[in-house]
Amino acid sequence: MKEYMNSITKTYKAYAKVNLALDVLRKRPDGYHDVKMVMQNIDIFDELEFTATDIKKAPDNSYENAAHGENTEENAAYEKPCCNIIIETNKPELPTDERNLIYKAIKLMSDEYNVYGNVSVKLTKNIPIEAGMAGGSTDCAAALKAVNDIFEINAPLEELMRLGKRLGADVPFCLLGKTALAEGIGDILTEAEGLPDCTVLVVKPPVGMSTGMIYGNMNCEALKSHPDIDGMLEGLRTHDLNTVASKMENVMETVTVKLCPDIEDIKNAMKENGALNAIMSGSGPTVFGIFDASEKAWAAADYIGELDLATDIFVTKPV
Ligand code: ATP
Repeated sequence: MKEYMNSITKTYKAYAKVNLALDVLRKRPDGYHDVKMVMQNIDIFDELEFTATDIKKAPDNSYENAAHGENTEENAAYEKPCCNIIIETNKPELPTDERNLIYKAIKLMSDEYNVYGNVSVKLTKNIPIEAGMAGGSTDCAAALKAVNDIFEINAPLEELMRLGKRLGADVPFCLLGKTALAEGIGDILTEAEGLPDCTVLVVKPPVGMSTGMIYGNMNCEALKSHPDIDGMLEGLRTHDLNTVASKMENVMETVTVKLCPDIEDIKNAMKENGALNAIMSGSGPTVFGIFDASEKAWAAADYIGELDLATDIFVTKPV
């Protein structure tokens, strides 16, 4: 951590995820859906450089006091300054104001723990937007961690996950990272064994998909097939890449493929070019394939590149 004259600069990597399996169980009365899915971080990441200056803390900003809203005389007498947030990014289409999840995360931490200052963020966005790779949620998670570190709040991970859930169902997973079973609305997490060594080919068609719109068009009752999530977890536990690949399934394809038929073509191109299996990630439209050798993945990437179906192609690894 760099520290000079009440100014701190710290850089974070925010990793993308794919869903090795994704099931949507039912629509809940609150409008959310209950899901059961296996999440896996992959080595594609945004970089976030946070600089905080003029850092101010309420007289006692320890996690315990802020979390329990302790109303000491000292705290009451403390005049709350504003948190100044400036976000710059290499993607002009992204909002940099209060609509950005990084902004929301910094503001939430500032309000919750009574910490203030000027926070500027340089976001180098590499994760495609509206792609089903949790790009916004992972930036949000990185911002929660950054404020926790830079302002020395020392909130435990579980507490950040509880706060993060308010900003998005995928944020708790992005805070936890690696590989996990996600249940509930995606926020009830159980750590799982990591994906065995393999190469992951990620291909994003040109369109973007709104997660809310895809969920809105899901008809859970009409689903004819559900992924074998327990079989997938067993494959992970026994480090059996072939079993894991054979259990890959995403029920959201029933909605997204109708809107973007290229998804099916990309899946087929991957499977015909050496992938053990290929499915869509999240609400799409990104497709990923699992390969047991990197040369095969590179060859498939070259082939798909020629088809002109994609704006982004990555050959990467699980994290
Ligand atoms: P998920 O897999 O969680 O559904 P996604 O990849 O489909 O996510 P995102 O890239 O996270 O979708 O972005 C969805 C929306 O969130 C976009 O409309 C975007 O404008 C908004 N957004 C806000 N902050 C960010 C951010 N830091 N990065 C990306 N998108 C952001």
